[in-house]
Amino acid sequence: MCGIIGYIGRQEATPILLDGLKRLEYRGYDSSGIAVAEQNRLTVIKRTGRVESLFRAVTATELHGRCGISHTRWATHGRVSDENAHPHISSDGKIALVHNGVIENFEQIKKFLLEQGYAFQSDTDTEVLCNLIAYHYNKQSAGEGGDRFEQAVRKSLLHVEGTYGIAVICTEAPGKLLGARKGSPIVLGVGQEEFFLASDVSAFAGRARNVAYLDDGQVVVITPSAFRIATVLDEMIAPVLSKLDGPVEAPDIGDYDHFMQKEIFEQPRSLENAMRGRFSGDGSTAQFGGLNMEPREIRQIDRIVLIGCGTARHACLVAEYLIERYARIPVEVEYASEFRYRNAPLDKNTLVFVMSQSGETIDTLEALRESKRKGYRTLAITNVVGSSIARESDGGIYQHAGQEIGVASTKAFTSQVLISAMLALYLGRLRDLSFSYGTEMVRALRAVPELAKRVLEQADAAARVRDRRCPQLRC
Ligand code: GLU
Repeated sequence: MCGIIGYIGRQEATPILLDGLKRLEYRGYDSSGIAVAEQNRLTVIKRTGRVESLFRAVTATELHGRCGISHTRWATHGRVSDENAHPHISSDGKIALVHNGVIENFEQIKKFLLEQGYAFQSDTDTEVLCNLIAYHYNKQSAGEGGDRFEQAVRKSLLHVEGTYGIAVICTEAPGKLLGARKGSPIVLGVGQEEFFLASDVSAFAGRARNVAYLDDGQVVVITPSAFRIATVLDEMIAPVLSKLDGPVEAPDIGDYDHFMQKEIFEQPRSLENAMRGRFSGDGSTAQFGGLNMEPREIRQIDRIVLIGCGTARHACLVAEYLIERYARIPVEVEYASEFRYRNAPLDKNTLVFVMSQSGETIDTLEALRESKRKGYRTLAITNVVGSSIARESDGGIYQHAGQEIGVASTKAFTSQVLISAMLALYLGRLRDLSFSYGTEMVRALRAVPELAKRVLEQADAAARVRDRRCPQLRC
């Protein structure tokens, strides 16, 4: 799943889209592309490799228009090539689409579309969705009522299985930008007579102050002056706009060699932030504002299931030891991807706790939904405010670790472990852990950021040892 940024408004779209792509670069990608609409004309440029090669190609072309979409791709279907990069254009040239995710039934739909005379330039699942939208668009006659473009997108989405976050434009509906999501995030940014559509708020950082996060199964229709959110079946949704908490800065690497190094050195601060305001006045326990559970309810829990994937699952494994040791509550750790498919018997008083840095890990989100369907209380530890997991859980704990760009998690992992220790303390103090033991633990936890700082101060000395002993590892 990679990056999407779309724009509609009064400004030239190209610089805004290119800037958005640059901000989304941290996610990793293999190719990128842009499509800008001017009246009934659509110009598309796509390049493999770094976005700089796209920028060069765009600079060499006149790319004007106030509405456009762009994408950084992480190939799932079809090799890395200019043809497979997004945006994809329908074979009749009317629809342009960028897509994050995977269309699972694309082969079946492609076969049907080939029979209908649609042609394909790429090997992607995305181009199939693009041509399907064109098919539904062309099937409706102009006089049929309703908006043809919107209807075509809705009808197509009803036929696809899999996951998508999309942004779409249509040459015959200039001045209209559509977005939709299922299993892959899409967020609408609202500015002054301009709107942004992105997979991640950082793409329009500083340009929009209000955002609306789409939920699965929702479609947003945007014109330069207004937007409307409805379900795929066209049932109106009252938008929930939230203010962006402070400026979301575009990632800045500072004096570091790479983002992972920067994030390693940010740990004293992220650990401090994980604890800020989260110890009781008497210094004997932790407190969390967002659990949305009374201490009385928490005391009734006799089992905890921790769910995560990858690094977050490793944090869950540490949490298991901590909670069992200090709170004496039996804990089990589940792989999110397994949890959805097996039917583990869970006791009535089980609390489900999911962990995900991004709050968008699809397997973890689905495990959360499955637990909710079964009626369990679900809490989450996540780093991204307003993410799908944060919104769909019954409550939880934000990490406040700041944006993590490095693919290998560092500061987000250590903050999850620290929060787990605080959680173990909190649960323990509701049970058998004494006041004096609690104060001792709080003191020890408060010392962690300073200890991390002291370790990081040894970095140069550690590098010297590395260079002497293992010169091949010198970076
Ligand atoms: N499945 C699409 C492709 O392979 C989208 C990949 C993505 O999420 O970047 O092109």
